[in-house]
Amino acid sequence: MKIDGNELAILQNELDQQGKKQEAWKIKQEFLQQVREAGDHCPCPEACPHHGNCFECVTLHRGHRDHLPMCMWDMVNERLAALSHMTEGTLRAYEDRKAAEAAGNRAEDPE
Ligand code: SF4
Repeated sequence: MKIDGNELAILQNELDQQGKKQEAWKIKQEFLQQVREAGDHCPCPEACPHHGNCFECVTLHRGHRDHLPMCMWDMVNERLAALSHMTEGTLRAYEDRKAAEAAGNRAEDPE
């Protein structure tokens, strides 16, 4: 089942924004039912005891704040890719340069 960019979920969101709360609620429940019936909905490939348990996964990621759950990366990358066009595809070079600078600083100051 395709969860990301799901047509039912998009419709639900549009109905909600239009103030059609009851219709939106029905569509939302239909979407969630389809996800439940689809079985494993988690795209994360890590061998993890929290696989598919979104409550535990999201709570842990909120707790450590190091990164987002894997299922959200595509949505965030979609937005970041659009923003990165402002610098004409130089984001990777910037990150590489900053990493090299940080590595150089660590080599000069081991503490
Ligand atoms: S929140 Fe975590 S457990 Fe839930 S689908 Fe995303 S990666 Fe998987």
